Amino acid sequence: MSDYLLKAEDINAKYGDFHAVQGASFDIKKGEIISVIGTNGAGKSTLMKAIVGIMKPSGGKVYYKGEDVTGIPTHKLVEMGLIAVPEGGRVFPRMTVLDNLIMGSYTPKARKNRDQALERVYSLFPILKEKANQAAGSLSGGQRQMVAIGRALMSDPELVLFDEISLGLAPTVIKDIYATIRQINKEGLTVILVEQDVKRSLKMSTKAYVMLKGKIVLEGNSQELTEEEVKRAYFGI
Ligand code: ATP
Repeated sequence: MSDYLLKAEDINAKYGDFHAVQGASFDIKKGEIISVIGTNGAGKSTLMKAIVGIMKPSGGKVYYKGEDVTGIPTHKLVEMGLIAVPEGGRVFPRMTVLDNLIMGSYTPKARKNRDQALERVYSLFPILKEKANQAAGSLSGGQRQMVAIGRALMSDPELVLFDEISLGLAPTVIKDIYATIRQINKEGLTVILVEQDVKRSLKMSTKAYVMLKGKIVLEGNSQELTEEEVKRAYFGI
């Protein structure tokens, strides 16, 4: 048995003839935060979609808890404790904040602990408790992102993949959200961060992977990589 919580081996993903992810491999141990860094269009989201069953990889393997989960549907992975918070803080705009959160606890295991999980989400994001009965669509961008994160946490996950959660948010909001992610990581959650921001990614993670044009072009311990070498890999210079 490996000590990896998740291991992606030689993942390939295509849109028709376009080879968006080409042989990407990465791994993450329980309790770690890793970051996947890359500019617009580098293939980060496609790689993540291939991991969480939104897209079937055209090649490669995904192992989660030592089990081959390649191509397994998303809802099955959620039941196993693996979930993604997609780009853009997507919520059900007409539903209340509370109902959005409740939606996250649809698996039998999560349903059992729903009240506890809800209290935890409210303690992480007190504003969501205040706005519990408001339509999620009426919230600010940052608050909608909190709903999206809270909804994922309601599924009682072990590994959460955050796809560019800072996109379009104000710097102070981003700082708060990242502080919360750090806190829930300290409490035991394993985290994959997909980011465009090199500095923040290196600061937050134990290990970093840089993607360029569908390939992982640099990887290393976040403490040992310099911002300069990451930026060179990021821009391919
Ligand atoms: P972003 O920060 O813009 O989300 P990314 O690194 O996540 O960038 P992807 O969204 O994975 O990149 O896109 C990788 C490549 O695949 C890009 O060239 C993009 O144009 C292309 N692509 C993404 N989605 C589709 C799709 N549904 N159909 C065809 N091509 C796509």
